[in-house]
Amino acid sequence: MSKLTDLTLAGLRDGLGKKEFSAREVTDAYLERAGQAGPLNAFVRITDDIARKQAEDSDARIARGDARPLEGIPLGIKDLFCTKGVTTQAGSHILDGFTPTYESTVSQNLFDDGAVMLGKLNLDEFAMGSSNETSYFGPVVNPWRREGDEAKLTPGGSSGGSSAAVSAHLCAAATATDTGGSIRQPASVTGTVGIKPTYGRCSRWGIVAFASSLDQAGPITRDVRDAAIMLKSMAGHDAKDSTSIDCPVPDYEAVLDQGVKGLKIGVPKEYRIDGMPVEIEALWQQGIEWLKDAGAEIVDVSLPMTKYALPVYYIVAPAEASSNLARYDGVKYGLRVEDDNIHEMYSKTRAAGFGAEVQRRILIGTYVLSAGYYDAYYIRAQKVRKKIFDELMGVLNGVDLLLTPSTPSAAFGLGEKTADPISMYLNDIFTVTANLAGLPGISVPAGLDAQQLPLGLQLIGRPFDEETVFRGAKALEDAAGFSARPGEWWS
Ligand code: GLN
Repeated sequence: MSKLTDLTLAGLRDGLGKKEFSAREVTDAYLERAGQAGPLNAFVRITDDIARKQAEDSDARIARGDARPLEGIPLGIKDLFCTKGVTTQAGSHILDGFTPTYESTVSQNLFDDGAVMLGKLNLDEFAMGSSNETSYFGPVVNPWRREGDEAKLTPGGSSGGSSAAVSAHLCAAATATDTGGSIRQPASVTGTVGIKPTYGRCSRWGIVAFASSLDQAGPITRDVRDAAIMLKSMAGHDAKDSTSIDCPVPDYEAVLDQGVKGLKIGVPKEYRIDGMPVEIEALWQQGIEWLKDAGAEIVDVSLPMTKYALPVYYIVAPAEASSNLARYDGVKYGLRVEDDNIHEMYSKTRAAGFGAEVQRRILIGTYVLSAGYYDAYYIRAQKVRKKIFDELMGVLNGVDLLLTPSTPSAAFGLGEKTADPISMYLNDIFTVTANLAGLPGISVPAGLDAQQLPLGLQLIGRPFDEETVFRGAKALEDAAGFSARPGEWWS
């Protein structure tokens, strides 16, 4: 038998069901592996006691014949999800020691289905970033390296702890969140699968807010089947989130093998951007061929509003962030820098508690919402956002899915893009549109570049049609046959 940590989530589920091994054995194997992966800095906290207790409960249930869908499956939880009794800091100094008295709906859903929590995963501070370098807990390191080169690469962001941990097999799967690409971009640069479902599919309750009209939870997993299994458990209506939608969650796993025969797949020409590496262009073309061979009809489509997506995102997201982050004032949560004058206490706390990128977003957000600039920036951005949505919905009237690259480059080096925020923001050029329009999007590992680094392809679907997204993703995965793994230099 292969190592327990080599098995996919589906493989573990089947083996646990057949009693080939116990949940406690699986959890112990992961705890050992996660404990040896310090150099990756993927976990901010390993919760061994909780994990062992949950695994023993799972074994008892399996013995009683009472197993739930994720019984005994060890997961990593992005530290943006509030976990009851376990500190949750969103990668920030300002949330020092914050210990929620409640559980986020998504993590509760997973635990209600039998999942085991191995620990909390590192991320960019308040999920702002594309490289996991804005974390107060230091950067996460990508398990992948360029061939013949020991330079440390970023695992993408903001869900860099999740992508690195899944890619290095430190957990069977992980939770993540995506406001502008933070599930799909890290998945793409670590050779993992990441799906951002439709806005409203997963409850945002108990997830530390970044930009509430864009934030969505989703899984990062080793393959498409595991993503389907995870999303089924994570999703669902929640009365505690007024934007969560009350519609049934389909059995995504059941549709995976329905294929793409007869589906129309649009290829938007505006995603062919200047300076895109030829390998990404070639991989995209390869993806088109794979889907065509699998029976899909490929249609050239045009989305001229695409060029406005990034500028609109970088007005709307900071605006909402500046409002959401106003609550961190030293009074109710975490860090407080004392001063006799309460206004001084507020500003000293915020100056010490927020990192540079978060402060930049708060400044931009406050500026675009201020009297005199509100109409020129925020309102105009909202109008353009509506046009982007209308244009996409028009195109998705004629096609079932859109196929694009996931990212404009493979994994880049730590420190390579930190000096210039704009170059960092450009990483999200292919992903932000789905957030602005609330559409589901998935990144699937499709190949390696010349330096032997993974590259992903993205499929975007219609609202609440994750089933078709999964069918397309499975077809891509089957055709790509991606099986490469990073060398284990870190343990
Ligand atoms: N990288 C983008 C940003 O910095 C998206 C982050 C995210 O999706 N959470 O805002």
